[in-house]
Amino acid sequence: MAETVTRTISILGATGSIGSSTLDLIRRNRDEWRVVALTANGNAGELARLAREFGAECVVVADETCLPELRELLSGSGIEAAGGAQALCEAASRGAEVTVAAIVGCAGLAPTMAAIEQGRVVALANKEALVSAGDVMTAAVARHGATLLPVDSEHNAIFQCLAGNDPAQVRAITLTASGGPFREWTWERLEQATPAEAVRHPNWDMGAKISVDSATMMNKGLELIEAFHLFPVGLDKLRIVIHPQSVVHSLVEFHDRSTLAQLGPSDMRVPIASILAWPGRMETPCEPLDLAALGSLTFHAPDELRFPATRLAREAAGAGGAAPAVLNAANEVAVAAFLAGQIAFTHIAANVERVLAADLPAAPATLDDVLVIDRDARAVAREILELA
Ligand code: NAD
Ligand code: MG
Repeated sequence: MAETVTRTISILGATGSIGSSTLDLIRRNRDEWRVVALTANGNAGELARLAREFGAECVVVADETCLPELRELLSGSGIEAAGGAQALCEAASRGAEVTVAAIVGCAGLAPTMAAIEQGRVVALANKEALVSAGDVMTAAVARHGATLLPVDSEHNAIFQCLAGNDPAQVRAITLTASGGPFREWTWERLEQATPAEAVRHPNWDMGAKISVDSATMMNKGLELIEAFHLFPVGLDKLRIVIHPQSVVHSLVEFHDRSTLAQLGPSDMRVPIASILAWPGRMETPCEPLDLAALGSLTFHAPDELRFPATRLAREAAGAGGAAPAVLNAANEVAVAAFLAGQIAFTHIAANVERVLAADLPAAPATLDDVLVIDRDARAVAREILELA
């Protein structure tokens, strides 16, 4: 009988939607993985439970006030526990063969960069980190010989379609978008949209922030910038099409007019599995695709008047430099304000546009530069929103 090869894995953002989907796959293949580090923002109870279940070497809570509770819950287990931003980076530096970057927001940037510096495999879900750092991150990947694999379903689809093909032969890359829960809403109705309505996504079960981003279409905007860095074919070759069924996850068209697409259920365990098993394949518990049962798949052009976020993201990608980091920071502040009931849904993109209209800082050259741009753009965004 063939011996099972065990690989080491760390999950940054283990208690979230992507973290849970990843751990579900590991749970089904327990003897193939050894868990090094698990991290969370503050949910000590859930993190301690996962750490015991998976026999993690260490756990970290970003919010240090939760550390005493975490230590208490893990007493006698032999599992190391730490707290704070520095500890997150140290956990990411433990050199696991695979690190899943699944923290939400630019808060995940420094730990993701720490994982990249280990020169191993980084499975990237945390799109805000790549949007903010851009060339700073891709240069670090090259410098440290790391392998950056896309977990985001669209980018994972593109990655699969490009396998074995020459990127110079790509004519266009099309990202599909569900259009979110408000796809057919009028502007007047969008103005009244509530946080509860925005997080109720029709096809995907995700964290609150990305659900709101899907509703504003900023998720697709961030994904456009993510694709710009992962697949450097040029901004003019990146397209977006609305596809409400979320079955076709993205498409690549080549010069001969052949278009390859990747299809699958709208369950993040499919792209995560493709990364965990890469370059091979593994079983998932997801339902097989039944095209006859689906009947029809539809596609139409996005409406950037009702949903201006993709335009803002394309402009930021075109401007380059600090613009994508500013766009992301402004969006994070606006989404948090919307979720807290402080601003209207339609003010999210409007506020991002206002922050981008202010003088932009110089292009970042280092991680510290990106973190300063992010911090300062948040301050400007809060000032504009009068939340300061
Ligand atoms: P989530 O809110 O469900 O989970 C986020 C995780 O990050 C949690 O473990 C949380 O404890 C941790 N976290 C939150 N704030 C933190 C902070 N300040 N410092 C450290 N840790 C922090 O989010 P999610 O839906 O799992 O999304 C995670 C990332 O993956 C996001 O960047 C999202 O855009 C991306 N993504 C998610 C999906 C999806 O289906 N959920 C799909 C594609 C991409
Ligand atoms: Mg996506």
